[in-house]
Amino acid sequence: MGQRKALESHTVPTDVFLRVAAMDASTFPIAPRCCCLGFLQKILAIGLLLALASPSTPSRAVEPSTDHDVVIVGAGAAGLYAAYTLDNLGYDVLILEATPWHGGRIWSMLLGDVRIENGAEELYGAKNNFVYNDIKAAYGMGAQIGIFEETTSQDTLIVMDADGMGGGSTCWAESKTGNCAGDADIENYWDFYYDIGEHSNDPTDPLVSHYLDTTWGVPSTNRGYHLYDAGVPGGEYGTTVERMGLRSLSREWNAWSLSETVHGFGFKQDGLYETGYSDALDFLYFDQVLPYVTYNSPVTVVDTSGIKPVAIDDNGVYHYADAIIVTVSVGVLKAGIIDFIPDLPATKLDAISTIGMGKGMKISLRFNSQIWGDDMMEVLLDGPTAECWPPKVYQPDVTDHVLTCFSMGRNAEAMEALPDDAARLNQAKVDLDAAFGGTGAATAAFVEGFVMDWTASPYTLGSYSYPAPDTRPISGSTMRQVLAQPVGSQLYFAGEATHNTAASTVPGALQSGERAGGEVDTELDGPPAAGTPTADFSASAVSGGPPLDVSFTDLSTELPTGWSWDFGDTGTSSDQHPSHQYTAAGVYTVSLTATNSIGSHTRVLPKLIFVPEPTGIAMIGSGAIALVLLRARRRRACIQLGRPLHG
Ligand SMILES: Cc1cc2nc3c(=O)[nH]c(=O)nc-3n(C[C@H](O)[C@H](O)[C@H](O)COP(=O)(O)OP(=O)(O)OC[C@H]3O[C@@H](n4cnc5c(N)ncnc54)[C@H](O)[C@@H]3O)c2cc1C
Repeated sequence: MGQRKALESHTVPTDVFLRVAAMDASTFPIAPRCCCLGFLQKILAIGLLLALASPSTPSRAVEPSTDHDVVIVGAGAAGLYAAYTLDNLGYDVLILEATPWHGGRIWSMLLGDVRIENGAEELYGAKNNFVYNDIKAAYGMGAQIGIFEETTSQDTLIVMDADGMGGGSTCWAESKTGNCAGDADIENYWDFYYDIGEHSNDPTDPLVSHYLDTTWGVPSTNRGYHLYDAGVPGGEYGTTVERMGLRSLSREWNAWSLSETVHGFGFKQDGLYETGYSDALDFLYFDQVLPYVTYNSPVTVVDTSGIKPVAIDDNGVYHYADAIIVTVSVGVLKAGIIDFIPDLPATKLDAISTIGMGKGMKISLRFNSQIWGDDMMEVLLDGPTAECWPPKVYQPDVTDHVLTCFSMGRNAEAMEALPDDAARLNQAKVDLDAAFGGTGAATAAFVEGFVMDWTASPYTLGSYSYPAPDTRPISGSTMRQVLAQPVGSQLYFAGEATHNTAASTVPGALQSGERAGGEVDTELDGPPAAGTPTADFSASAVSGGPPLDVSFTDLSTELPTGWSWDFGDTGTSSDQHPSHQYTAAGVYTVSLTATNSIGSHTRVLPKLIFVPEPTGIAMIGSGAIALVLLRARRRRACIQLGRPLHG
């Protein structure tokens, strides 16, 4: 497995064919699938060089564009499952992914012979969770091994007073010797667990830390305070008790729709447990839609104000569709990485700012010996490393000794403040030394480690969403439901934070993608029927001083009977092959809607026509090339130069 597959990396979007950047003809990029352009490309390059030779020739760009039924922003669980849902219904989808890989917060790899999960790890049971049954059917029941269950063979090790003499005190929570019993601070912690659900109807939504302090007598200086962050509820929600609202937490707790029990995925093949959560999801669902992912394409603008919704990526490519589904994390939404035009409604903005996004990192460490007991299912640490567990509990045949730790909330902040991953691994060793006898056992046995900081990941910006104060009011929609709501008929939202009863989980993310895909399908009333036109056209020229006469040629498929042109300067036409004169300087987007008895389709070519301010000097660019024919294909968005005008 190793690091994320480099093969997924594409530096050029695969279905973008032409970007005329009259700044440097040598950088004129033609994407691989654009047919037979060699000769014409040279002519054009010469033309462009001539154009460059003239100081009066303005630089311009014919913006590259694509056209699909649905564009999905983000190739994480939600985005890929939305694509899977729509692809199964017959839609033509495009998935735009900011990074060179897919899967988002699900990332499996090997450390020694132990598979570690840098993101999602726990599989939930069958309740309201189709993944459970799909994994069972594909890999067999034995692949799902119960974890984090207090049994006679699994127990929790708790570290108290790590800074005390002799490495601090430790105790076993329950089944081993139960020698934590009697420690009032730990008893309080367990009792609080049962109290969480009792605050659904509290009129106010104070911070959980405030409630702990004022009602339970557990201020941040309490020797047991770290348990609330490392275990429940901080650990469960990927944050800290100083961030969550008590009522919102209580309501989220009571609304939980997945199984209470969790499993690890212990599927071994060819002697290794290298099939991880991400591999299983690829196999079950995602492989089908990976061909539709365009990598390295961070979306910066989602514009639903024009004739057709468009997502514009950081490479300057315009991706048009009938509907756009945004599946990025609430951390990315909070950061304003995507500019929504028009602005999102105030209710949506409120939801984005209210729902919390925890900080979190996973740290996995390999040791040359097993410094913990066979029955240790997890250890709650008194330090920023917070909580660790041995993946061996669900990969019983591994020979290497690995602990995976999950540091979240203020613990993650403390880890982030350290200078580098080596320092973070050192901190983990210090915290683990205290757990295992205080004699430096972890430090002595350490071999290697891996740190994955999801907050530092620029297109995640946190671990997962949590119920900050006011996420769940006493009545009315929750902020998660508001976040999930479509905006108009063209903009949809999915992602773990939008799930009302299984947020912060993979099943929740998958189900949100399924929900959003269904919403789109309902709105569009099915994919375009066979025989629906695919609008397509060419222009006789794309630039020139005013007045610029342009002849447009309809190239649509399926014999349209109606044409609706928008020339971008308020000019319109219903001719099949219209001519239009541009009289004023400007950059104009042109669109054609082609209609027949079965349906219609709109093709938009953004910023197609450039009319510079008159300079008195001829436009060498357009004159040298003489006739530039532009053509767009719907699925492959192929803009071809000088090609014969046949379908
Ligand atoms: C440390 C950790 C442990 C976890 N443990 C568990 C667990 O044990 N069990 C469980 O069920 N869940 C767990 N989760 C939660 C689970 O991983 C997430 O709920 C789920 O993977 C989220 O999927 P998503 O599609 O909503 O978001 P993401 O996975 O974040 O996917 C969003 C995608 O959008 C991309 N993107 C972002 N911005 C842009 C942009 N501008 N343009 C284009 N693309 C963009 C991102 O790169 C990413 O690929 C864990 C998460 C973390 C971080």
